[in-house]
Amino acid sequence: MPSLHARPKPAALARPLAGRSAIVTGSTSGIGLGIANALAADGANLVLNGLGIGADGITALRDQLMAEHEVEVDFHGADMSRPDEIADLVAACATGFGSVDILVNNAGIQHVAPLEDFPAAKWDAILAIDLSSAFHTTRAAIPHMRKAGFGRIINIASAHGLVASPFKAAYVAAKHGLLGLTKVTALELAEAGITCNAICPGYVWTPLVAQQIADQAKAHGISEDQVIRDVLLAQQPNKRFATVEELGALTSFLCSAAAASITGTALPVDGGWTAH
Ligand code: NAD
Repeated sequence: MPSLHARPKPAALARPLAGRSAIVTGSTSGIGLGIANALAADGANLVLNGLGIGADGITALRDQLMAEHEVEVDFHGADMSRPDEIADLVAACATGFGSVDILVNNAGIQHVAPLEDFPAAKWDAILAIDLSSAFHTTRAAIPHMRKAGFGRIINIASAHGLVASPFKAAYVAAKHGLLGLTKVTALELAEAGITCNAICPGYVWTPLVAQQIADQAKAHGISEDQVIRDVLLAQQPNKRFATVEELGALTSFLCSAAAASITGTALPVDGGWTAH
């Protein structure tokens, strides 16, 4: 008779995403990292992706996630503006874990400038990373998801997928486009057990935003509290930042069995911004 100690721990059995494999693009920082943590906590194995933390940072991040959540974690350094590297990222997940169950398209960049001064190269880069990369990952992941009869595709769009602000032409265009791609993906895959939804955050507390606060306080000669309330959160009625933990929890829910009928949606996480 097997020893009681050989049985899986109840906590491991209860983890709703145990045995699933997930790709999270842009997961070396901010929202993507929060989502990676949430999926790993629910038992999913991960392929991380992103720039800027170097070989030592990647090793430390993998070790931390594996130790904390008892899951497998790989890293792929695909540049999300390069379709060939994106195809390789998806293939690496399928080869490494035997499936691609969850795809979170999160990598994104921003540039703020008036239209007439907007650099064409920035327009191309934002469209490539914030929109086209999701097309390339999705088309590569679909055959694996169809084979398994299961899939969850989550596109991290923005409140700027639903409404516009001046000076963000490329970002607003890319995020509106991402919502269109989300709907088409959902419709085409609706009978295959594969859902596709978009999450539309307002301002979220990430290192990127923290840096903007310090910079803007200096530039305008006002306090950091004033920047938060009167500049960044001017449109966000609840006057607080969403957290990466909140976005991770929503992503995990969308990946769960309970969310099987939710598809083709754009879910605002914006403190009421788009209710205006
Ligand atoms: P972040 O800068 O902290 O993280 C962006 C991630 O994308 C990083 O891991 C970065 O390395 C990666 N990345 C950028 N260019 C890449 C490339 N060419 N190839 C591979 N990886 C690349 O930003 P964040 O605030 O966490 O934003 C994540 C997503 O959430 C973005 O799509 C952003 O548009 C969206 N979003 C953020 C906010 C916010 O307030 N922070 C609000 C709405 C939407």
